[in-house]
Amino acid sequence: MNLGAFVHPTAIIEDAVSLGPGTSVWDNAHLRRGAVVGSDCIIGGKSYLANSVRIGDRCKINAMVYVCSGVSMGDGVMVAAHSTFTNDFYPRACVNDLSALRPSEVDDHTTFTTVQDGVTIGACATISSDIVIGRFAVVAMGAVVTRSVPAYTLVMGSPARPVALVCRCARPLVGLLDGNPPDGDYTCAPCAITYRVRDGGIVSDPLGDGIPIPRMSDPLALDLDHSEGDAATELAG
Ligand SMILES: [Zn+2]
Repeated sequence: MNLGAFVHPTAIIEDAVSLGPGTSVWDNAHLRRGAVVGSDCIIGGKSYLANSVRIGDRCKINAMVYVCSGVSMGDGVMVAAHSTFTNDFYPRACVNDLSALRPSEVDDHTTFTTVQDGVTIGACATISSDIVIGRFAVVAMGAVVTRSVPAYTLVMGSPARPVALVCRCARPLVGLLDGNPPDGDYTCAPCAITYRVRDGGIVSDPLGDGIPIPRMSDPLALDLDHSEGDAATELAG
């Protein structure tokens, strides 16, 4: 399954790992059993992909990134160095009487995170679980993401809050700190792409092939049926 992929001699690739053609896995990376990486990806040195992690095509996972079980990424995702995903709201090493380790594999405690196409996650970000990071969203460096992130939205801080709508190129289009921007069309000058904004979110992308852009007010559209959080309320605040 790994024909056409480059694997550095010091990388550890466990059984049943799938690497697409054109993908590179660099020094001392560790890909656990069942991880799936698409084509033309870069998995940076010393990064760790846990069991059954899914990564799409043309993704850049920089050095020293920790991706736990339960994480799925679409295409064109960038995860910068030292970023960390999490997947357990009640983490413990052992069972209650400390007589045995709890399993490291996916179990009833494991929660799931989806990173959609085109997302960028900045260096040293920490990503909570049971969330969706929407298409072309940008997570600023060092952010602590505890709630789902709407598509085309820059979030910063701890806990991370929306601060701007962004273009596909990651440049800000209009700020959100003073509330929702006026409805209208917003153009990224360098890209000459015009996006339609309604109710504080991008609702049309001319390069989007008609793919609907889910809104936080429609959590089911973000595949949040596993979420107990009220992301819509939180993100609107
Ligand atoms: Zn742009």
